[in-house]
Formats: sequence, structure tokens, C-alpha cells
Amino acid sequence: MAFEAHNLADGFGRRFSYVRLSVTEVCNFRCTYCLPDGWKKTGPLSFLTPSEIANLASAFAGVGVTKFRLTGGEPSVRPDLIDIIANLAAVDGVKKIAMTTNGWNLDQRVNRWRNAGLSHLNVSVDSLDRETFRTITGHDKLPAVMAGIDTALGLDFAAVKMNAVLLRSTANTGFDTWAEFVRERPVAVRFIELMRTGDNAEYFAANYVKGSIVTDWLEERGWAPQDKHKDGGPAVEYAHPDYAGRIGLIAPYAAGFCDGCNRLRVTARGKLRLCLFGEGGCDLRDLLQDAEDKEPLTRRIAQALSGKAAGHRLHENLPGDLLHLAQLGG
Ligand code: SAM
Ligand code: SF4
Repeated sequence: MAFEAHNLADGFGRRFSYVRLSVTEVCNFRCTYCLPDGWKKTGPLSFLTPSEIANLASAFAGVGVTKFRLTGGEPSVRPDLIDIIANLAAVDGVKKIAMTTNGWNLDQRVNRWRNAGLSHLNVSVDSLDRETFRTITGHDKLPAVMAGIDTALGLDFAAVKMNAVLLRSTANTGFDTWAEFVRERPVAVRFIELMRTGDNAEYFAANYVKGSIVTDWLEERGWAPQDKHKDGGPAVEYAHPDYAGRIGLIAPYAAGFCDGCNRLRVTARGKLRLCLFGEGGCDLRDLLQDAEDKEPLTRRIAQALSGKAAGHRLHENLPGDLLHLAQLGG
């Protein structure tokens, strides 16, 4: 049987048009919830090459995947990032190329990424306070990251968004600074509920706070939830007539979070991962060498998909075999 476009579906009828591709496990930041002691080498750095990524993308695009997100580790530490973006942009059927970055070199590089074909940009900024940012990430880089965001806003990206992990300490001070930040800027800031991983149990217990702290705050002030785009991510974004930007929430602990799952992940070493909080993965790398015959690759992907679970088990305190998000890409 030949696979046709739009037939990547799992046993629960969920369709998959979005792939998050980790391009490296390496990171130069030390975020307290992710890599508090910094990245440590655990094996050879044999990450997917730009041509393997092109073959992967072309197989996925052949079965209806239209959006790719580059993540990591920190994707922008890869010296060949431009080639990766350009290769993705050259694949027929790929409509959106997004990237999640910590923004350390955004100001100098974002123009070239945009020119290579990057269409959507997400920058992680956990606090707008310089000292808090330094404490969380281990780097005094807030001014540089913010300069990069302003540069990006001047380019014609389809969307520039910001991610902030929701931590008890920062949430307790409220969200006024964030609201002020988006008053004139057409940028969406999305808070991500802190996720429990294998490495951060103690940190999670001390810092997790429910996403309703954000949505209650927004609703009390007249912000309204907006409809999601079909191949969009898991965020619910709120808008307000007096503000140019949006504020949103990604709440993996919310009931029904997995019901609308539309995304798959591929690790930097070429394993298909059906869920961030699952276990193991289906190795695709041996099939990424052939630029012509994509059928074996799409067959393997479709077969693996039939084993995708209905949902994660974070509520039972079971994060799967994930030690930290840099390992697979957030
Ligand atoms: N290094 C890049 C960055 O930080 O944007 C990309 C990879 S990072 C793993 C992707 C996203 O996951 C970031 O927005 C980060 O803040 C978020 N993240 C990492 N660990 C997390 C955790 N335990 N809970 C919630 N979000 C997390
Ligand atoms: Fe690095 Fe991103 Fe993890 Fe921070 S969240 S340590 S920037 S991979």
C-alpha cells in the first residue's frame, strides 16, 4: 500500500501534521528546571546531518506534515543551522519552519535564519527582570536576548513568540510586567507549566504552580481566550483590545491536554518519539540515508504511530524515561 498525504494518524484518530525536531542535545545555558549543572556530554555528538534532516522532512511532508519546529538542547549552537533551515525550506509541502531558542545569539543571527526560510520564532525568556533571568538561566543575557527579540519583530516573521516557564517564585509577583511588555508589541508570551522530569523531582515539588494562576489573572482583567490554529501548538492564547500582543498558557497537566495532540518528535539522533513523556523511541536513522525511496521510512513511522498512547502519565508522577527536556527537545 502506498501512503497518501494526510494519513499519519494514531489509533485514537489523532492526525499529525507537526514534527518537533531536536537538532542537538547540547546547550550553553543552565536553566534551573532543565540543566541546573549545565550540559554534560553523555556520548558521541553524532546528531542528524542537514542531509539526513532533509530526507526525514521530505518523508514526513509526503504524508501530510506541514510544520517543523527545530529545538534541542539549544538549536543555535549548531554551526550548520542555516543549512538545516534551508534544507527544510526546500522540501515540497513544508509550510512552516519554527524554532525554539534561548536567544543567546539572536541579535546577530536572526536575520540570516529568516533569510534561510525560518518562518516562526519562539524565544524562551523566563523573567523580564535581569537578575531573576540570570539566576534562572545562569547567564546575564537578558539585554542581549531582548535586543534579539526586537530585531526579530522588525523582520517579517509569521510569528514571534516568547515562552516563560511558570515558577512559583515568579508567578507570585503577578503578571503586570508581562502585560505592559505586550501592550505595544505584537508578541505572544506563553507561560508553560513546569513539567516534572526524571532529574527535577525536588525542584518540581518546590516550584510547580498550576496554570490557572495565569488564566484567572487574565480573565479577571478582561482578557479572552482565542481559537487555536489547526496545526498550532498546545497553547491557549488570550487577547485584550488594549494590548497588541497576547498572553497564553501551555498546561500539560490540564485535563484533556493529550486529546488534541497533533505533534511527533524526532530526537537529535534520529529516533521517533511518540510522546515527550513516553519511553524509548523508534530508530529512523538507518532509513535517512536514501534520498529517493521514502516508502520504507513512512511505513516505519506509520507503524510506530499505531503504538502511541492515549496520554502521558504525568499526573501519576511518571515522566517516562525523560531526564530533562534538553534530552529530547521541549
Ligand atoms: N534551548 C531552547 C530553549 O530553551 O528555548 C530549546 C529547548 S528547551 C528544552 C524548550 C522549552 O522547554 C523552553 O521554553 C524551556 O523553557 C522549556 N522547558 C525546559 N524544561 C522544562 C520543564 N521542566 N518544564 C516546562 N518547560 C520546560
Ligand atoms: Fe538549555 Fe533550553 Fe534547557 Fe534552558 S531550557 S537549559 S536553554 S535546553
